[in-house]
Amino acid sequence: MSNDSLMMVVSAPSGTGKTSICRSLLREFASLRFSVSLTTRPPRRGEIDGRDYHFVTAETFREKIRAGEFVEWAENYGHCYGTSRVVIEAIRLRGEDLLLDVEPRGARALKEIYPDGVFVFVLPPNLEELQQRLRKRGDGDEEMRRRRFQKAKDEIREVFWYDYIVVNDVLERAVDKVRGIYLAEKCRRERQLGVVASFLEK
Ligand code: ADP
Ligand code: 5GP
Repeated sequence: MSNDSLMMVVSAPSGTGKTSICRSLLREFASLRFSVSLTTRPPRRGEIDGRDYHFVTAETFREKIRAGEFVEWAENYGHCYGTSRVVIEAIRLRGEDLLLDVEPRGARALKEIYPDGVFVFVLPPNLEELQQRLRKRGDGDEEMRRRRFQKAKDEIREVFWYDYIVVNDVLERAVDKVRGIYLAEKCRRERQLGVVASFLEK
Protein backbone atom coordinates (compact mmCIF):
# COMPACT_ATOMS: atom_id res chain seq x y z
CA MET A 1 0.00 0.00 0.00
CA SER A 2 1.16 3.54 -0.58
CA ASN A 3 1.53 5.57 2.61
CA ASP A 4 -1.46 7.76 1.91
CA SER A 5 -3.97 5.14 0.72
CA LEU A 6 -5.65 3.40 3.63
CA MET A 7 -7.47 0.08 3.35
CA MET A 8 -10.24 -0.49 5.87
CA VAL A 9 -11.92 -3.90 5.90
CA VAL A 10 -15.24 -4.31 7.70
CA SER A 11 -16.53 -7.78 8.56
CA ALA A 12 -19.62 -8.79 10.46
CA PRO A 13 -22.04 -11.67 10.59
CA SER A 14 -24.73 -11.25 7.97
CA GLY A 15 -27.54 -9.01 9.27
CA THR A 16 -25.39 -7.16 11.84
CA GLY A 17 -25.55 -3.85 9.97
CA LYS A 18 -22.26 -3.47 8.15
CA THR A 19 -23.92 -2.39 4.90
CA SER A 20 -25.77 0.36 6.81
CA ILE A 21 -22.53 1.49 8.49
CA CYS A 22 -20.49 1.41 5.29
CA ARG A 23 -23.12 3.35 3.32
CA SER A 24 -23.18 6.05 5.97
CA LEU A 25 -19.38 6.47 5.89
CA LEU A 26 -19.30 6.49 2.10
CA ARG A 27 -21.86 9.30 2.04
CA GLU A 28 -19.75 11.28 4.47
CA PHE A 29 -16.23 10.87 3.05
CA ALA A 30 -15.63 11.56 -0.64
CA SER A 31 -12.06 10.25 -0.22
CA LEU A 32 -13.32 6.83 0.87
CA ARG A 33 -14.24 4.43 -1.93
CA PHE A 34 -16.09 1.17 -1.70
CA SER A 35 -14.42 -1.84 -3.28
CA VAL A 36 -17.40 -3.21 -5.19
CA SER A 37 -17.18 -7.02 -5.10
CA LEU A 38 -18.43 -9.39 -7.74
CA THR A 39 -21.10 -11.88 -6.76
CA THR A 40 -23.20 -14.59 -8.33
CA ARG A 41 -26.07 -13.96 -5.89
CA PRO A 42 -29.14 -12.16 -7.25
CA PRO A 43 -29.65 -8.50 -6.21
CA ARG A 44 -31.78 -7.72 -3.15
CA ARG A 45 -34.50 -5.12 -3.25
CA GLY A 46 -32.85 -1.69 -3.45
CA GLU A 47 -29.42 -2.96 -4.48
CA ILE A 48 -27.84 -1.37 -7.52
CA ASP A 49 -25.51 -3.16 -9.93
CA GLY A 50 -22.11 -1.47 -9.87
CA ARG A 51 -22.76 0.29 -6.55
CA ASP A 52 -23.45 -2.57 -4.12
CA TYR A 53 -22.03 -5.43 -6.18
CA HIS A 54 -21.22 -6.31 -9.74
CA PHE A 55 -23.82 -9.04 -10.24
CA VAL A 56 -22.46 -11.69 -12.59
CA THR A 57 -23.30 -15.22 -13.70
CA ALA A 58 -21.55 -18.28 -12.25
CA GLU A 59 -19.87 -18.81 -15.65
CA THR A 60 -18.44 -15.25 -15.71
CA PHE A 61 -17.25 -15.67 -12.13
CA ARG A 62 -15.46 -18.94 -13.01
CA GLU A 63 -13.76 -17.28 -16.00
CA LYS A 64 -12.50 -14.50 -13.75
CA ILE A 65 -11.12 -17.03 -11.25
CA ARG A 66 -9.24 -18.73 -14.11
CA ALA A 67 -7.92 -15.36 -15.32
CA GLY A 68 -6.62 -14.54 -11.82
CA GLU A 69 -8.80 -11.43 -11.54
CA PHE A 70 -9.57 -11.85 -7.83
CA VAL A 71 -7.40 -10.82 -4.91
CA GLU A 72 -9.52 -13.25 -2.91
CA TRP A 73 -12.84 -14.97 -3.37
CA ALA A 74 -15.07 -17.25 -1.31
CA GLU A 75 -18.34 -19.12 -1.49
CA ASN A 76 -20.97 -18.01 1.01
CA TYR A 77 -24.44 -19.55 1.23
CA GLY A 78 -24.10 -21.21 -2.19
CA HIS A 79 -23.02 -18.03 -4.00
CA CYS A 80 -19.56 -16.77 -4.91
CA TYR A 81 -18.17 -13.41 -3.80
CA GLY A 82 -14.84 -11.96 -4.87
CA THR A 83 -12.66 -8.88 -4.50
CA SER A 84 -11.51 -7.57 -7.86
CA ARG A 85 -7.82 -6.78 -8.27
CA VAL A 86 -8.60 -4.12 -10.91
CA VAL A 87 -11.12 -2.34 -8.67
CA ILE A 88 -8.66 -2.20 -5.75
CA GLU A 89 -5.71 -1.10 -7.85
CA ALA A 90 -7.72 1.68 -9.55
CA ILE A 91 -8.73 3.14 -6.17
CA ARG A 92 -5.18 2.90 -4.81
CA LEU A 93 -3.70 4.53 -7.91
CA ARG A 94 -5.96 7.53 -7.38
CA GLY A 95 -4.61 7.75 -3.80
CA GLU A 96 -8.11 7.24 -2.37
CA ASP A 97 -8.94 5.18 0.70
CA LEU A 98 -10.57 1.79 0.32
CA LEU A 99 -13.51 0.37 2.23
CA LEU A 100 -14.19 -3.33 1.88
CA ASP A 101 -17.08 -5.42 3.19
CA VAL A 102 -15.74 -8.96 3.28
CA GLU A 103 -16.43 -12.00 5.47
CA PRO A 104 -13.65 -13.27 7.81
CA ARG A 105 -12.05 -15.80 5.44
CA GLY A 106 -11.70 -13.16 2.73
CA ALA A 107 -10.55 -10.60 5.29
CA ARG A 108 -7.84 -12.99 6.47
CA ALA A 109 -6.61 -13.42 2.90
CA LEU A 110 -6.53 -9.63 2.50
CA LYS A 111 -4.52 -9.27 5.70
CA GLU A 112 -1.85 -11.56 4.23
CA ILE A 113 -1.54 -9.38 1.15
CA TYR A 114 -2.10 -5.99 2.83
CA PRO A 115 -0.75 -6.30 6.39
CA ASP A 116 -1.07 -2.55 6.97
CA GLY A 117 -4.82 -2.66 6.31
CA VAL A 118 -7.20 -1.83 9.15
CA PHE A 119 -9.51 -4.69 10.12
CA VAL A 120 -12.79 -3.94 11.90
CA PHE A 121 -15.25 -6.54 13.15
CA VAL A 122 -18.81 -5.42 13.83
CA LEU A 123 -20.83 -7.39 16.39
CA PRO A 124 -24.57 -7.31 17.02
CA PRO A 125 -25.53 -6.41 20.62
CA ASN A 126 -26.66 -10.04 21.09
CA LEU A 127 -27.74 -13.07 19.06
CA GLU A 128 -31.49 -12.49 19.54
CA GLU A 129 -31.16 -9.02 18.00
CA LEU A 130 -29.18 -10.50 15.10
CA GLN A 131 -32.06 -12.88 14.38
CA GLN A 132 -34.48 -9.95 14.44
CA ARG A 133 -32.36 -7.98 11.97
CA LEU A 134 -32.05 -10.90 9.59
CA ARG A 135 -35.87 -11.12 9.63
CA LYS A 136 -36.24 -7.36 9.23
CA ARG A 137 -34.07 -7.31 6.13
CA GLY A 138 -36.63 -9.71 4.67
CA ASP A 139 -34.56 -11.43 1.99
CA GLY A 140 -34.38 -15.19 1.51
CA ASP A 141 -36.53 -17.80 3.17
CA GLU A 142 -36.49 -19.18 6.72
CA GLU A 143 -33.90 -21.81 5.74
CA MET A 144 -31.52 -19.15 4.36
CA ARG A 145 -31.93 -17.06 7.52
CA ARG A 146 -31.20 -20.13 9.63
CA ARG A 147 -28.00 -20.82 7.65
CA ARG A 148 -26.86 -17.20 7.97
CA PHE A 149 -27.51 -17.33 11.72
CA GLN A 150 -25.50 -20.58 12.14
CA LYS A 151 -22.63 -19.12 10.13
CA ALA A 152 -22.74 -15.95 12.24
CA LYS A 153 -21.90 -17.94 15.33
CA ASP A 154 -18.82 -19.45 13.61
CA GLU A 155 -17.72 -16.07 12.24
CA ILE A 156 -17.82 -14.44 15.68
CA ARG A 157 -15.01 -16.80 16.75
CA GLU A 158 -12.79 -14.92 14.27
CA VAL A 159 -12.91 -11.58 16.13
CA PHE A 160 -9.62 -12.21 17.92
CA TRP A 161 -7.28 -11.33 15.07
CA TYR A 162 -9.12 -8.12 14.06
CA ASP A 163 -7.71 -4.72 15.06
CA TYR A 164 -11.03 -3.26 16.26
CA ILE A 165 -14.37 -4.53 17.52
CA VAL A 166 -17.47 -2.34 17.22
CA VAL A 167 -20.83 -3.31 18.70
CA ASN A 168 -23.70 -2.09 16.53
CA ASP A 169 -26.37 -1.41 19.14
CA VAL A 170 -27.58 1.99 17.96
CA LEU A 171 -26.63 2.56 14.33
CA GLU A 172 -25.49 6.18 14.75
CA ARG A 173 -23.23 5.21 17.64
CA ALA A 174 -21.66 2.38 15.62
CA VAL A 175 -21.08 4.78 12.72
CA ASP A 176 -19.44 7.22 15.17
CA LYS A 177 -17.05 4.50 16.31
CA VAL A 178 -16.07 3.35 12.81
CA ARG A 179 -15.67 6.98 11.75
CA GLY A 180 -13.40 7.46 14.78
CA ILE A 181 -11.29 4.46 13.78
CA TYR A 182 -10.98 5.73 10.21
CA LEU A 183 -9.95 9.24 11.22
CA ALA A 184 -7.49 8.06 13.89
CA GLU A 185 -5.89 5.59 11.50
CA LYS A 186 -5.49 8.38 8.91
CA CYS A 187 -3.49 10.34 11.51
CA ARG A 188 -1.07 7.51 12.32
CA ARG A 189 2.52 8.68 12.11
CA GLU A 190 3.43 6.28 9.29
CA ARG A 191 0.58 7.62 7.15
CA GLN A 192 1.64 11.25 7.73
CA LEU A 193 5.30 10.94 6.72
CA GLY A 194 4.64 12.76 3.44
CA VAL A 195 3.26 15.77 5.33
CA VAL A 196 6.19 15.74 7.76
CA ALA A 197 8.71 15.49 4.92
CA SER A 198 7.26 18.59 3.27
CA PHE A 199 8.11 20.58 6.44
CA LEU A 200 11.63 19.18 6.71
CA GLU A 201 12.44 20.01 3.07
CA LYS A 202 11.70 23.67 3.79
P1 ADP B 1 -25.36 -6.57 6.90
O1 ADP B 1 -24.82 -5.76 5.76
O2 ADP B 1 -24.38 -6.72 8.01
O3 ADP B 1 -25.90 -7.90 6.45
P2 ADP B 1 -27.54 -4.58 7.01
O4 ADP B 1 -26.84 -3.27 7.05
O5 ADP B 1 -28.17 -5.03 5.73
O6 ADP B 1 -26.58 -5.77 7.56
O7 ADP B 1 -28.59 -4.57 8.21
C1 ADP B 1 -29.51 -5.65 8.45
C2 ADP B 1 -30.85 -5.07 8.92
O8 ADP B 1 -30.70 -4.52 10.24
C3 ADP B 1 -31.37 -3.93 8.04
O9 ADP B 1 -32.80 -4.02 7.99
C4 ADP B 1 -30.93 -2.66 8.79
O10 ADP B 1 -31.78 -1.57 8.53
C5 ADP B 1 -31.03 -3.12 10.26
N1 ADP B 1 -30.09 -2.46 11.17
C6 ADP B 1 -28.78 -2.15 10.95
N2 ADP B 1 -28.23 -1.58 12.06
C7 ADP B 1 -29.21 -1.54 12.99
C8 ADP B 1 -29.28 -1.06 14.36
N3 ADP B 1 -28.23 -0.53 14.97
N4 ADP B 1 -30.46 -1.18 15.00
C9 ADP B 1 -31.53 -1.74 14.39
N5 ADP B 1 -31.55 -2.19 13.14
C10 ADP B 1 -30.40 -2.11 12.42
P1 5GP C 1 -24.48 -10.55 1.41
O1 5GP C 1 -25.07 -11.63 0.54
O2 5GP C 1 -25.19 -10.42 2.74
O3 5GP C 1 -24.32 -9.24 0.68
O4 5GP C 1 -22.98 -11.00 1.75
C1 5GP C 1 -22.73 -12.27 2.30
C2 5GP C 1 -21.33 -12.29 2.83
O5 5GP C 1 -20.37 -12.16 1.77
C3 5GP C 1 -21.02 -11.14 3.81
O6 5GP C 1 -20.37 -11.68 4.94
C4 5GP C 1 -20.08 -10.23 3.03
O7 5GP C 1 -19.16 -9.56 3.88
C5 5GP C 1 -19.36 -11.24 2.16
N1 5GP C 1 -18.71 -10.66 1.00
C6 5GP C 1 -19.12 -9.63 0.23
N2 5GP C 1 -18.22 -9.38 -0.73
C7 5GP C 1 -17.21 -10.26 -0.56
C8 5GP C 1 -15.97 -10.52 -1.24
O8 5GP C 1 -15.59 -9.85 -2.20
N3 5GP C 1 -15.20 -11.53 -0.77
C9 5GP C 1 -15.58 -12.29 0.29
N4 5GP C 1 -14.73 -13.24 0.69
N5 5GP C 1 -16.73 -12.10 0.95
C10 5GP C 1 -17.52 -11.10 0.53
